[in-house]
Amino acid sequence: MTSYTQYFGETQQIIRQSVAQYVKKEITPHVEAWEEAGEIPRDLYLKAGATGLLGIGHPAEYGGTGTDDVFSKIAVSEELMRCGAGGVVASLGSLDIGLPPVWKWGSAELKERICPAVLRGEKVQALAITEPSGGSDVARLKTRAVREGDYYRVTGSKTFITSGYYADYYTVAVRTGSEGYGGISLLLIEKGTLGFSVGRKLKKMGWWASDTAELFFDDCKVPVANLIGAENMGFYAIMSNFQMERLNLAVMAYMTAQLALEESLRYVHEREAFGKPLAKFQVLRHKLAEMATKVEVAKEYTWRIAARIQAGDSVVKEISMAKNFATSVSDYVTYEAVQIFGGMGFMRETLVERLYRDNRILAIGGGTAEIMNEVIAKQLGL
Ligand SMILES: Cc1cc2nc3c(=O)[nH]c(=O)nc-3n(C[C@H](O)[C@H](O)[C@H](O)COP(=O)(O)OP(=O)(O)OC[C@H]3O[C@@H](n4cnc5c(N)ncnc54)[C@H](O)[C@@H]3O)c2cc1C
Repeated sequence: MTSYTQYFGETQQIIRQSVAQYVKKEITPHVEAWEEAGEIPRDLYLKAGATGLLGIGHPAEYGGTGTDDVFSKIAVSEELMRCGAGGVVASLGSLDIGLPPVWKWGSAELKERICPAVLRGEKVQALAITEPSGGSDVARLKTRAVREGDYYRVTGSKTFITSGYYADYYTVAVRTGSEGYGGISLLLIEKGTLGFSVGRKLKKMGWWASDTAELFFDDCKVPVANLIGAENMGFYAIMSNFQMERLNLAVMAYMTAQLALEESLRYVHEREAFGKPLAKFQVLRHKLAEMATKVEVAKEYTWRIAARIQAGDSVVKEISMAKNFATSVSDYVTYEAVQIFGGMGFMRETLVERLYRDNRILAIGGGTAEIMNEVIAKQLGL
């Protein structure tokens, strides 16, 4: 049994093939246009919802496939990444970080109202934690929610929110209690709520097809019924939610590296210098060998940790290691891929150019490389 078939069984292979076909038909031909437009079309959510793609990894009672199959989720992410645009994957994936707190800790009424519509692609879901004053230090967030009867009055702002511009529902981290991590709660805030406005679409280095935005709350009245989980327990929910986000970012990183490697392997046979194909130069052959080795190790380690998540192990340290390792690999491989392409690697018409730009966010989002190292150091007892 190869390591691959150990992790990806028949079900995952069927899912993989159907997502691969979907990506080829519905996504890849339009990637350039969506990158330029700075968004994916709304009906892509509907189409992805209709095929069941959005529901993979979410509870069956709300239209998903169940939450206990980590490798189906990975197979979907890997195949989506094959469209070559991290921004498309980030847009379709914002529900994977925004929705789990709702189905894990929301009230029955909230779950019923929100989850099926999001998994059908009729509504778009985002997660809003980061604020202009800082994203790494979640415990110090400032957006304030003051309870008044059946409502919270929310004041503050969020920034860099994926799907922030087009989302309908936002899982928002707010301060309901004292300073520090013990005073944070999660609220479901709906677009159109009085006092809630969305700023401009932010222009970015990469992930162009993903709409990223600022959110403003000005004495915004949110029903207490929209509280997700117990009041002042939001920090724990956020930290637990980070685990799957970090796994997914590790998958995005090794797939970014995989695509850059594949492009490079193709190019060194096509391109000639000094009268022979680039593939004949030992310096480049060794570079490609190193790139391939690193990609392989990043994949294998990420899958190993995913298997431990599937088994119910606590892998706070290891998932941080997986994210940091995979992103260090994608940093190296995308850099070298552009180098192998020479001037062509700097041109917008090459995939490696986009991979290089899209890659840069992966060691920043979902917890920076430095914060991952802090988590690892703490787990080492430092
Ligand atoms: C394209 C994009 C999409 C995003 N999507 C979302 C989203 O959907 N929802 C959301 O809530 N957020 C989102 N973010 C925000 C992202 O999670 C934050 O940018 C990230 O967590 C870092 O926070 P920051 O930018 O405020 O950097 P800061 O926290 O200001 O950190 C700045 C630098 O200081 C370093 N640093 C900070 N603290 C320490 C420390 N203790 N030790 C060592 N170094 C430290 C950091 O590693 C970093 O290098 C997104 C960001 C981008 C760019």
